[in-house]
Amino acid sequence: MNRPHLAALGEAAAFEHALRASLRIRPDAELAACLDRLRAHHTAALYHLPDTGNTSAEPHEPRDIARAWAETALSISATTSGGAYARQVAAAHAHHRVQHLTRTDPCPYCRAPRHREHHTSRLGHTPRTVIHCPRRGPALSEPADAPACTVDIPPAPHPGAPVLVRVLIGTGDADTDIPCAVHLRPRTTRHGPHDHAFASIAPGTPHTFTLAMPARPIPELDRIRVIHADGFRLSFRQFRVPCLPDDRPTAPPRT
Ligand SMILES: [Zn+2]
Repeated sequence: MNRPHLAALGEAAAFEHALRASLRIRPDAELAACLDRLRAHHTAALYHLPDTGNTSAEPHEPRDIARAWAETALSISATTSGGAYARQVAAAHAHHRVQHLTRTDPCPYCRAPRHREHHTSRLGHTPRTVIHCPRRGPALSEPADAPACTVDIPPAPHPGAPVLVRVLIGTGDADTDIPCAVHLRPRTTRHGPHDHAFASIAPGTPHTFTLAMPARPIPELDRIRVIHADGFRLSFRQFRVPCLPDDRPTAPPRT
């Protein structure tokens, strides 16, 4: 992480603040617990800021604290209900405004036309890029200067077969592994995903996550989410896959 530490912490604080504000509208005990853990890491990072007054100086030990913060942030989707994801995506640019829109490729799932939103912040936070599908919800939210990220997902999952999600982030220039979480989850409000995996990815090296698809269909199990962190800054991606067909044999009528 080579960004000014205090600025990065300011972005983390804004993200936490927006998420905490959402609890006033819709309480969520699991999300509140995650926010308490985020605040603890955040406070620890403040303690380690250099006290020279030079806020652009490298902090003494940012990586361990930033990693602990990021891993906690990435764990939110593993323990909370489905609505917490949309709240995180919104919180990441809650203190931003849309500067302009550009047309981008249609939704790969439903072909709806989409725009790339360019968000800037009056607080000086990193600009963000956001893409929504008008029918399917958030597809992308990431810092505008984030390293390139490519995700390959299977066109259609098969019941009982593993779902392989290949993630490639960056070009290999950075010297720090990137915490990355992948979730397979249904739309429902159940807590946690159907399956999820976490790895620290070497920049420039593809990593394949393996998620389990149930042998028997789960309604609306059609979301794959990839969340990764660059220091205190988060990138969110959501993909849709075709729902599993219900291929169980129907019971013969009773006679
Ligand atoms: Zn769509």
